Amino acid sequence: MKRWKWTRGFFVVGLLLSTWAWAGQKTGIEANLSATPGMVDASVKVPELKVELKYSTADNFIGKDVYGDMERCYLQADAAAMLAKAAAVLKRIRPELSLLAYDCVRPVSVQRQMWKVVKGTKMQGYVANPNSKTGSIHNYGCAVDLTLADPQGKPLDLGTAFDFFGKAAQPRHELSLLRAGKLTEPQVANRLLLRYVMTEAGFQPISSEWWHFNCASPSQTRRKYKKVP
Ligand SMILES: [Zn+2]
Repeated sequence: MKRWKWTRGFFVVGLLLSTWAWAGQKTGIEANLSATPGMVDASVKVPELKVELKYSTADNFIGKDVYGDMERCYLQADAAAMLAKAAAVLKRIRPELSLLAYDCVRPVSVQRQMWKVVKGTKMQGYVANPNSKTGSIHNYGCAVDLTLADPQGKPLDLGTAFDFFGKAAQPRHELSLLRAGKLTEPQVANRLLLRYVMTEAGFQPISSEWWHFNCASPSQTRRKYKKVP
């Protein structure tokens, strides 16, 4: 009887320690992600997805890593399922290519840092104001920034770099830039291919950034999902 109690005691202590160790592994962003309903690691649903979160490196317009140890693409389960469909469409028509994600869920805390950098500058129009009605759809895990990659994982040429703040990144100017010789036919064709696979899966493109796609409209997003703090 005594021995059984000891065993039970060890079991309880072990359980407490493992819970503590697990909780200890989660930093601010990771803890907020696991507390947000519906958030999943997109790579689990889309194993062929390539991920290179630009905000988890210094290669971004802020010039520093603002994601810390968040290096995976987290999205709402609905958005991840749509991304799996987009990957399947791409596989059917261009099996040698893959999707390469640059940004997925973006916590509001990071949105605030970005807003601080661009507020009052000409970059302001490219970053959602965290104090606006919706904020950024990225804050809910319903938006994804991505490109197409070749078999070596190298991004294809879509005319500009990710987060290029200028006209050449804006789909609404594509045709006039093509006519003016400022974008080439292969660059525009690559954009059309990306837009085709994403819209076939139900994503909505925007007119100001070729890399950005929403899983739902702003009002649907606010209604269905919660922001990651
Ligand atoms: Zn975006």
